[in-house]
Amino acid sequence: MKMSNLYAPTLKEDPAEAELASHRLLLRAGLIRKQAAGLYSYLPLAWRSLKKIEAIVRDEMDAAGAQELLMPILTDAELWRESGRWNAYGPELMRVTDRHDREFALGPTHEETVTDLITNELRSYKQLPVNLYQIQDKFRDEMRPRFGLMRGREFIMKDGYSFSATQESLQEIYDDMKQAYANICERCGLRALPVVADSGQIGGDTSVEFMALADAGEAALVYCDDCGFAADEEAATTSVEVTEGPGDGTLQKVHTPGLGTIEAVAAFFGFPENGTRKSLALIAEDGTPVVCIVPGDHELNECKAEHLFGAYHMMSDEELEAHGLHKGFIGPVNLPEGIRLVVDENLRTSKKWACGANEVDYHFTGACPDRDFTVDEWADLITVHAGDPCPHCGKPLAGARGIEVSQVFQLGTKYSEAMGATFADENGEEKPFLMGCYGVGISRTLAAVVEQHNDENGIIWPTSIAPFEVSVIALDKKGEAFDEAARLADELAAAGVEVVFDDRAERPGVKFADNDLMGFPYQLIVGKRGIKNGTVELKCRATGEREDVAIDEVVAKLA
Ligand code: ATP
Ligand code: MG
Ligand code: MG
Ligand code: MG
Repeated sequence: MKMSNLYAPTLKEDPAEAELASHRLLLRAGLIRKQAAGLYSYLPLAWRSLKKIEAIVRDEMDAAGAQELLMPILTDAELWRESGRWNAYGPELMRVTDRHDREFALGPTHEETVTDLITNELRSYKQLPVNLYQIQDKFRDEMRPRFGLMRGREFIMKDGYSFSATQESLQEIYDDMKQAYANICERCGLRALPVVADSGQIGGDTSVEFMALADAGEAALVYCDDCGFAADEEAATTSVEVTEGPGDGTLQKVHTPGLGTIEAVAAFFGFPENGTRKSLALIAEDGTPVVCIVPGDHELNECKAEHLFGAYHMMSDEELEAHGLHKGFIGPVNLPEGIRLVVDENLRTSKKWACGANEVDYHFTGACPDRDFTVDEWADLITVHAGDPCPHCGKPLAGARGIEVSQVFQLGTKYSEAMGATFADENGEEKPFLMGCYGVGISRTLAAVVEQHNDENGIIWPTSIAPFEVSVIALDKKGEAFDEAARLADELAAAGVEVVFDDRAERPGVKFADNDLMGFPYQLIVGKRGIKNGTVELKCRATGEREDVAIDEVVAKLA
């Protein structure tokens, strides 16, 4: 590849709109261009790197026994209605209507499509497990598309879905996927932490997010160097026990017919129309009384389990008994301004959470805390910070910021049940599939790598995903040294090295700056003086180290 032909329009100045190093450098080095908010073209250098990330992902998926396929981007609204997500997904779902007024969505994720795909095809436990994946553009009408490729409205994702007959099988695939994701991060040169996003009833995790460590990351993380515990600051709250209980308010028994579904609870409390009612009783399925609250800036329709802000143990069994209540009751909580309850589809269906009446058709109210907490007090109680003791081993936690690059999730029967996707088990009984889903942000990974690997001069690609491994820089515009540079570039290419030849009629200073900006791992600098001595200069982009290499040793050294 000749640099004179390469379509990589560089920018001299930092683009004003780019706050993050990755956004700035991907624009400046000519890797991406914006069409509209959250919509980017990947120019040749970016596309080469993206294809390498995809190749690593494919390699790891295939090695773990997953099979690649490709499903339509346009997804039928009927499927989303079946799963209940046509409404629940909210405005992030990009909706499209065809000429017959039939509704579709541009797929943000493909649980519905893949579940429909296998229904009535996989019929017996003998055909299971099956693990399918695709690499495809995804569409999400993000509230705030920003930071270049980090949060796009169209982006590349590897999404995978597994179907199992038993929990053991799901667990096995989930664990394999988790390992594959760790490998993917490592092979792409990403320093990442697997962070527990959701922990299961028996203590194991059912969802893990891989967080690339970067100061610019949106997530605040805490982690323990000692025992390996790592969590989102907000998610970490679920493992904090708060012993403060309600005060001595007068209890009332309120008739709440149908209270027991999250919708009924929401309706009863007038949420979200009536934002002034701010209490909600939730109990975990194991009977642990909890209440879930989230920060105030989420709309009902964009609520997900990940927005859960915290969980409280509100009353001990003794206290419950003293109030004459059965296990599972929690007193209503006065939430301060700025924090409100959010009713979440995931709450109802996930294994860990359930909500219900305190007694069938009745809700108890009146046992308020003896004083209102301030927002800060609440936030502080339910958030785990760096320096706090690790909930597992008690050692002080370290803090970091992270970019979510991938996530593994045990879905269980959420979609298979809603969509009637069943198989016959060993006894001939129809059972819903146990599903897992596994996503890697391919384009976000590219941005995260640049975020972690750069300096004041530009990008520093890890060799594994560099657009080119070596750039051969001709210092002369023509003549013997130029010809020698061209010959070396050809020879390297013939030896299988991915090489770009900077043949442009530019001053050396311009070439050095551009090559540093584009971040190829090695620069081979070819000039008259070296040629006379039979050497060229090899510069390592990451360390800045330079060495003279004998011309006839160059290929052996770099191939
Ligand atoms: P986020 O919390 O950042 O909104 P998510 O949890 O909604 O991401 P998932 O549904 O888990 O995303 O999708 C799998 C992966 O796809 C994410 O881990 C992330 O790497 C990537 N991804 C999600 N949304 C975007 C986006 N808007 N732009 C680029 N990549 C994205
Ligand atoms: Mg999201
Ligand atoms: Mg997320
Ligand atoms: Mg996620």
